[in-house]
Amino acid sequence: MEPGPTPTSDPVDLDSRWYRAMFEASTVPMALADEDGLLVVANAAYCAMVGRSWPEIAGRSSRDFTHDDDLAQHRAMDRLMADAAERGEVLRVEKRYLHPDGAVRWGWVSASPVVGPGGRRWTMAVIHDTTDRRRTEDDLLTAASTDQLTGLLNRRGWMTHLAEFERVAAHGGGGDLVLAIIDLDRFKDYNDTRGHDAGDRLLAEFARAMVASACEAAVLARWGGEEFALALPGSAAVHIDAVLGDLARRVPDGQTFCAGYATVRARESATDCFARADARLYQAKRQGRGRVLGD
Ligand code: GH3
Ligand code: MG
Ligand code: MG
Repeated sequence: MEPGPTPTSDPVDLDSRWYRAMFEASTVPMALADEDGLLVVANAAYCAMVGRSWPEIAGRSSRDFTHDDDLAQHRAMDRLMADAAERGEVLRVEKRYLHPDGAVRWGWVSASPVVGPGGRRWTMAVIHDTTDRRRTEDDLLTAASTDQLTGLLNRRGWMTHLAEFERVAAHGGGGDLVLAIIDLDRFKDYNDTRGHDAGDRLLAEFARAMVASACEAAVLARWGGEEFALALPGSAAVHIDAVLGDLARRVPDGQTFCAGYATVRARESATDCFARADARLYQAKRQGRGRVLGD
């Protein structure tokens, strides 16, 4: 009789030791959690993903190493799992893990139900590490919202912040908000007499002066050309005159600017308020140069 295949080449011979070895050797982070979401087993790649050794995470919930901003999503996982299971789908969520040293890793987690002892509902988590893709996306997003010459937000970045102010206000939050638009006086003459490169340097220096004059909470943008935008949210809003006064003293080469500002009214959108600030700037320019008009 022909000898059968050697045991190692026979797939049915894959006993639990081999599954365990494959699980451990996998570069894909994998973990199994019990019905309470507590880790029963995790491979080395999972431990690396969450930045902790197995003894540090054994019997713990992944909630303990989930980034604060994703905790609400973590709490919703149970319900999401049940919904996905009902549709016969695997639940996929993207979340952040926070390492003890503060490092953050992003991962797409696929959570599938596994029948545990006594028919209890255990969960198998398989993670696809998306940290590098996320970083690239963040860098691209930052570049797309940043003005190259001054390093401030560009018009797109400014609009994103206005939209965020509007979103927060729609939920009853945010508090006071004052918006200003600033336009350098006779900048065309400055370019004509000193050259375009000197004009560029003045714009960059003006941006630095804005950073120096405004507080941390301020949103600063180059609206376009020689025009800049400034938002002072919350308790900073009352300081608008002081900030613009300080800025006027910092502008190099004896240059001046005009500015218009407006405070967001009840039920007014930030966009409409910014249009009012722009109208005040226009008025200021008609009255002369080196002027600030607010509401
Ligand atoms: P006003 O006091 O009425 O504001 O006069 P102004 O000359 O500042 O205004 P105007 O709108 O006539 O001209 C703006 C000038 O800003 C014209 C343009 O060449 C210059 N400018 C716009 N963007 C840049 C830039 O990126 N670099 C330099 N160097 N100049 C710029
Ligand atoms: Mg202008
Ligand atoms: Mg100008």
